[in-house]
Formats: sequence, C-alpha cells, structure tokens
Amino acid sequence: MSSELIYDAVVVGGGPAGATAAHTLALKGMKVLLLDKRGRIKPCGGAIPPRLIKDFQIPDELLVARAKSARMVSPSGKAVDIPIENGFVGMVDRAQFDEWLRKRAVNAGAEREDGLFETLTRENSHVRIHYRSRGARDGDHGSIKSVLAKSVIGADGAKSQVGRSAGVKGCAEANYVFAYHEIIKTPKDSPSSFDASRCDVLYQQPVSPDFYGWVFPHGDTISIGTGSADKGFSLRNAVGKLRKDIGLEHAELVRHEGAPLPMKPLKKWDDGKQVVLAGDAAGVVAPASGEGIYYAMLGGQLAGEAIAEFVETQNPAKLQLARKRFMKEHRMTFLVLGIMQYFWYSTDKRRESFVKMCEDKDVQRLTFESYMNKKLVRKKPLAHFKIFIKDMGHLLGLAKV
Ligand SMILES: Cc1cc2nc3c(=O)[nH]c(=O)nc-3n(C[C@H](O)[C@H](O)[C@H](O)COP(=O)(O)OP(=O)(O)OC[C@H]3O[C@@H](n4cnc5c(N)ncnc54)[C@H](O)[C@@H]3O)c2cc1C
Repeated sequence: MSSELIYDAVVVGGGPAGATAAHTLALKGMKVLLLDKRGRIKPCGGAIPPRLIKDFQIPDELLVARAKSARMVSPSGKAVDIPIENGFVGMVDRAQFDEWLRKRAVNAGAEREDGLFETLTRENSHVRIHYRSRGARDGDHGSIKSVLAKSVIGADGAKSQVGRSAGVKGCAEANYVFAYHEIIKTPKDSPSSFDASRCDVLYQQPVSPDFYGWVFPHGDTISIGTGSADKGFSLRNAVGKLRKDIGLEHAELVRHEGAPLPMKPLKKWDDGKQVVLAGDAAGVVAPASGEGIYYAMLGGQLAGEAIAEFVETQNPAKLQLARKRFMKEHRMTFLVLGIMQYFWYSTDKRRESFVKMCEDKDVQRLTFESYMNKKLVRKKPLAHFKIFIKDMGHLLGLAKV
C-alpha cells in the first residue's frame, strides 16, 4: 500500500514573495514544494532599496546598476534632481534575480516543480493543489497533477488564482494600476538626457495622467515605462512618446511587457483554514511609488513564519499573523503613500506643486531615508514641521508653483 506524501506547505508562485516564503520554510526544516509556472519574466523596473539588499542578503553580482540620484519631472517639464546621500538604489534584472531567489530556496531544502496552478480542493484538514505540469517542450500542455499539503502560500502575483480558489475575502474585487515597460539596449552614445546612474520619474500628462512614468538604468539595458489606472489611456503610446522625448526611440528593443499593480493591501490575507497570501497576491505594493519587491519579500518571509506556526499548532488563527506583523511595521507608510497618491497625483496642478515641494532639501532627505531604510523618519521634528507648513501652503494654494 502506498501512502501519499503530504507536504507541510506548497508555495504557489516563484517570484520574490514565493521564493522567500519557500526559503523561510525550508530553513525551518519544513517539507515544502515551490510550484511556479516558469517561462515569463516579471515586468518590473527592478529598483530595490538598501534595506532589501541587507535584510535578504542579496549579493553584489545581482545588481546590474546603482542609481546615485533621482530626477523628478513636473507636468510643465521642470526637473528637480535629488542626490541619494550615503548610498544608492540597487537595480536588478528580474530574470536573474528571481531565479537566484528560487535556487536559494532549493539549496535550503525546498523542492521545486514547474507547473501552472489551476485550483485547490479540501480533503479533511488538508488541501489538494491541482496543477498542470509543464510539458517536455515549450508549447506542450503537460498533464494535470495534484499534491496534498497541510497548508498553501499563494504568492502567484496580482489577481491571485490561489486567493480566488481559496475564497480569500476581497481578493476578487481588488483595484489595480496597469503598468507597462519596454526594455531597450543602452546605446553606446546615449543622449545627454539619459544618465546611467540616475532614476527619472516623470509626471507629465502625456506620460501618465494619474501615476508616473520612469526611465531606470539597468547597465546594458534601460527600463522605460509608465502606469495608469485609466483603462482608456494607451501605455504603449505614452512609452513611445517618452522614448522619443529623451532621444531613445531608435534604441534596440529587447522586450516589452505589462502587468497589473495592486494598489491596496487586502483586508484579509488568509482563508481562516490553511491558505495565506503574500506579495502582490495580498495587494502589498506601495501606493504612489509602485514599489513591491521589498514588500513581497517581507510578506513572503512573514507568511512562511506564520505557516510554520500554523503547521506546528494546527491553529488557523496563526495564519493571521502574517498580515498582523506586516501591518504593525508598515501600516503608516501605506496610509501616507495612499493619501499622497490620492491627493498629489489627482491633477496636474497638484503634481506640479508636488515636484516643487521636492526641491526642499528636508523633503528630499526624509523621503529618501524612508525609502532606503523602510522606516518613516521620526527623529527630525523641525524638518517635519517645515514640511507640514509647506504642505499646507501648497494645499491652500498660498505657495507659488
Ligand atoms: C511594469 C512594472 C514595474 C515595476 N517596477 C518596480 C520597481 O522598480 N521596484 C519595485 O520594488 N517594484 C516594482 N514593481 C512591482 C513588483 O514587480 C511586484 O510588486 C513584485 O514582483 C511582486 O512580487 P510577487 O512575488 O508578489 O509577485 P510576482 O513577481 O508577480 O511573482 C508571481 C509568480 O507567480 C507565478 N505564477 C503566477 N500565476 C501562477 C500560477 N497559476 N501557477 C504557478 N505559478 C504562477 C509567476 O510565474 C511568478 O513567478 C513593478 C511592477 C510592474 C508591473
């Protein structure tokens, strides 16, 4: 008689959230399977903060570029340059970065399977995960298989199929910004408007009416993209125009791709039974900035820790710990950035004021310290007071644009 193997956890999705979750569980000695539909590189600007590099021990060789400054461009075309003091923003290529994270999880003891998650069913206190295994050749459909587990982490990105199959509340109704970018080869003679050590963030209407466009250096390549919640807005045309504006319209196109970006953490990340979500699947992309890699990795780690406690105690309340611990640390950041996007990005006049505000050295320092270290800076009350007065001035229209 053969008895079926039961995994402690199956992690669906091998992006930053899933690979980190599988790594966390494997280090704890759990029997874990990492299931990922191989084959598509995640569309992403690839900017990561020093806190991520430090906390998740990312080796230098994965950084394809280091940005030492940022340029914000207002709707009227006014540019504000912000030096990044005492550090840099790291740039990663997601094809290499994600694969490295998956291999690290396998080296720690996780099993890995290429397959497309289809649905899950419940069997007593366990979950059966049904997936389509990858065929021997590209284009082969593969066969339907299933595995049994005590728990599941859904790290399968925005519009999570795991979240929907498990019936996680709010998962099917989440809101998104759509983002699209083109990866082009960095030309030998780059135009002066491009700087290989600077990240450009553009708030001009033709680039994005309600979010922003970007030009991020990646060493041999450049990511040029934009986002918008307006479904009628052509992201492709906007990127085409942006490339033309900066003199990179003839640079060789490597690939182009788009994806939805969730704009709000879900109110629930677990189903109260055996499933917990992490990363984009749980909606944790920072509003206003669209930053998601750090939050996905932290979410993956916390989901792994919560699942380990659940497996040990069989107490479903433990599943809630992932969201509770994440929100304890980052609730305020998400609130502040959410208000910022809602208010400052809503009209061109406000976006103009917003970029103007970024000329202030204290605003620059506080913004970047918060981004780099993932902590809202609280230690400079005078600077906060000054920013508050400026904010009010701009809000009431008293400050000159
Ligand atoms: C255009 C664009 C630019 C961005 N730029 C930045 C940036 O510069 N910096 C930043 O921090 N963030 C950026 N983000 C956000 C960031 O990419 C995401 O927040 C981050 O990738 C989330 O990680 P994740 O692991 O949760 O999900 P994902 O990275 O989406 O990974 C999900 C994984 O699940 C797998 N999967 C999906 N469905 C299934 C299935 N049914 N079965 C099996 N596997 C499945 C996928 O193959 C993938 O490997 C950007 C996003 C976009 C769209």
